[in-house]
Amino acid sequence: CGIVGYVGGQSALDVVVAGLKRLEYRGYDSAGVAVLADGGLAAGKKAGKLVNLEKELVGRPLPAGGTGIGHTRWATHGGPTDTNAHPHLDNAGRVAVVHNGIIENFAALRDELAERGHELVSETDTEVVAHLLAESFSSCGDLAESMRLVCRRLDGAFTLVAVHADEPDVVVGARRNSPLVVGVGEGEAFLASDVAAFIAHTRSAIELGQDQVVELRRDESGGKGGGSAGVSVSVTDFHGAP
Ligand code: GLU
Repeated sequence: CGIVGYVGGQSALDVVVAGLKRLEYRGYDSAGVAVLADGGLAAGKKAGKLVNLEKELVGRPLPAGGTGIGHTRWATHGGPTDTNAHPHLDNAGRVAVVHNGIIENFAALRDELAERGHELVSETDTEVVAHLLAESFSSCGDLAESMRLVCRRLDGAFTLVAVHADEPDVVVGARRNSPLVVGVGEGEAFLASDVAAFIAHTRSAIELGQDQVVELRRDESGGKGGGSAGVSVSVTDFHGAP
């Protein structure tokens, strides 16, 4: 229902939770976040209001990091439980994905993944995407490319935002028949289902086109002469020939 992603110099968790609060008006039944830090991925999710998630995060704090994603869920496949809340992870816990919409061919994809030994734990249509991204990443090593390849296999309506622990400076998003907006700030960038999520940080927004993938990447080098860290934004189509 509500999606937020962030790469930059602030605490991703703070930015993402504040963004989710700004999307609360849309209604939701559960919420969750994932942050990349210390070479790993840490996630928390909880049925009910955002305050439930915040309480959970007080009891079990996530490590601080500048890359993160979050979601408020309006359940379509599977009840509003902690397990069905987003983000969904692959079995190694290296990929996290949040999703708005419906993956219509999820049952066939789930059977195919089960045959290849994946263990899916939720009742959602979303979880297949985490597993497909993990498989694809293990052969190409690039999250944006993995997202393009996986999106070509999905039927239905989706906004997807994902992170991978092996690319700690990257957040990737994609959309078909469901909105995704990119916010570009100074040394930081945002993804959200609605500009309201990041309007407090930047007024520079780009709407992602149909069947496109966006990659936000923190670039520490700043070019030959050094310089400050920036975040580059690259947009590509996923619907071209594979
Ligand atoms: N279909 C997904 C689910 O039920 C996403 C729902 C949403 O748009 O929040 O988990």
